[in-house]
Amino acid sequence: FPPLPPKSPIGRIDDNTFSRYAGVTRFHQLPLSNNTKDGLREAKFVDMTDIQRASLPHALCGRDILGAAKTGSGKTLAFIIPVLEKLYRERWGPEDGVGSIIISPTRELASQLFDVLKSVGKHHNFSAGLLIGGRKDVETEKERVNELNILICTPGRLLQHMDETPNFDCSQMQVLVLDEADRILDSGFKKELNAIISQLPKHRQTLLFSATQTKSIQDLARLSLKDPEYLSVHEES
Ligand code: ADP
Ligand code: MG
Repeated sequence: FPPLPPKSPIGRIDDNTFSRYAGVTRFHQLPLSNNTKDGLREAKFVDMTDIQRASLPHALCGRDILGAAKTGSGKTLAFIIPVLEKLYRERWGPEDGVGSIIISPTRELASQLFDVLKSVGKHHNFSAGLLIGGRKDVETEKERVNELNILICTPGRLLQHMDETPNFDCSQMQVLVLDEADRILDSGFKKELNAIISQLPKHRQTLLFSATQTKSIQDLARLSLKDPEYLSVHEES
């Protein structure tokens, strides 16, 4: 069969349109898909938090981000929204496989991310899976993992799939998220993380979020990010 023609993307935010959105304060002012806007509105998200205001205009135009902001500042939506929008604009579908991988330090945090994704992303048609080990049977997971568009995982379980799952394919992955990266490193997952990153496509967007800025976060940023925006939001007090 001849290769399928590339799907034309639905629209992009580029550097020229970026400045238009740099100062906005509400989600509905951003150039988001109606699917995402509806999800946000139904979940009662209206005004952006500081880290969301600082990072979303950059993330939505495809830039890599190193975002540091304390716990509770709203970092989750700062990456869930760009993931949804990137796959939406690329017209990502069931046959496209894994489009985004979100890595979280613990099963509990990963489950919370999954709930936010299900809520804010509920008007999109993407499939998503929670790969966290423990309660779920890895063999059943192996059969389904290639059909999923968005993977939310702990480092150990993701690496297990990379090593053991036949035909596990993330060669088309568009957006990598490293959430609570300081905690991933504190939990001793540095080796796993490096092994994961080395197996992912080099051409990708990477969003790295952390509550703290440490030397090891800088090292990870050097390893995983390309020409990133450094965004650090501190409380004024
Ligand atoms: P972090 O990852 O920075 O610790 P979260 O993304 O978990 O923070 O968000 C912390 C809390 O703030 C959650 O309960 C979330 O629902 C809420 N939240 C996030 N963004 C907003 C917003 N724009 N408006 C209102 N509440 C928000
Ligand atoms: Mg968080």
